[in-house]
Amino acid sequence: MLKVNRLVSGGVITNYKCSSKCKHCSYSCSPKWERDYMDETTASNIFRILKKQGCHSVHIGGGEPFLQPEKLLKVLASAANNGVSVEYIETNASWYIDEDKTMSILYDIKEHGVDTLLISIDPFHNEYIPFWKTKSLIKACYNAGVGVFPWQMEFWPDLDSFDERTTHSLKEYEGKFGKSYIDNLLGRYGINLKGRAFKTFKSQLKMQSFNDIMNSSRPCGLLSGVYHFHLDLYENFIPQSCPGFSIKIDELIKGADQEKYKVLYSLESSGVAGLCNLAVNKYGYVPKEEYKGKCDLCYDIRSFLVLDLKLDLPDLQPVGHYLFV
Ligand code: SF4
Ligand code: SF4
Repeated sequence: MLKVNRLVSGGVITNYKCSSKCKHCSYSCSPKWERDYMDETTASNIFRILKKQGCHSVHIGGGEPFLQPEKLLKVLASAANNGVSVEYIETNASWYIDEDKTMSILYDIKEHGVDTLLISIDPFHNEYIPFWKTKSLIKACYNAGVGVFPWQMEFWPDLDSFDERTTHSLKEYEGKFGKSYIDNLLGRYGINLKGRAFKTFKSQLKMQSFNDIMNSSRPCGLLSGVYHFHLDLYENFIPQSCPGFSIKIDELIKGADQEKYKVLYSLESSGVAGLCNLAVNKYGYVPKEEYKGKCDLCYDIRSFLVLDLKLDLPDLQPVGHYLFV
């Protein structure tokens, strides 16, 4: 049985659609996703469950939550109605148009009990969002009395060295700061190498033989992260370190059927070797001789199941994670 007994602190994903397609995005968000957004019924279910499980505060993230501010406000109202506080909302600042419109939205979220925005500041976002928008949103927050959690200030001088009126590619950063700039971002940013981030930085990882990976396989502990899990707009629990997996939250708190969630259970109980044995025996997966580590093997199998076999498995949702990587 797959079960969590408590949830301490996590995030709520209102939407996966995003104005950006950042290369470090472990959720593989992008403009290609459907415009789906968390509705009021889902929000109410989720916050009720969170409260009952002992989680009294969350952050809101996406995708870009401010793509549909009127729906965001309904989610915030639902959090308040269920006694769950929102610590901050993550945003990439792309929605900044002008000060008046932005201030109006900021006052709205303040009225709904949110007093901080986490605003992204890094070269990955600057490929899609000109720095003037980031700066303007920070200024608007200041004027509206909304706090800013800048993520991450260490990159401010890098971004500020370019023309703020336009976007800048990572190649431009490499041209200005040297060949190792992109590779060094891995350590500087503290990137979770999953989803599109894995694809971006995979070349930096060492090859390992298939046999070595299988022999060193250990349970992945997908359900152990009760401090930084996410719940999404489809009422899925998304494990702390591994987006691309899902269990319906109402099933998880009661004890989810391991037969229904076979893929996730195989990793939870035996690690990537368990998944590989399942994929070979049940789905005809043919392993390669080597991979860039266990997560490469894991992604190769999951992509095979979702994209090649087109299986609609309950534990490998949302499918966009694989489609839009
Ligand atoms: S990192 Fe944030 S802004 Fe970038 S694609 Fe992902 S969700 Fe969108
Ligand atoms: S092997 Fe799969 S489940 Fe385990 S940590 Fe890597 S990506 Fe996550």
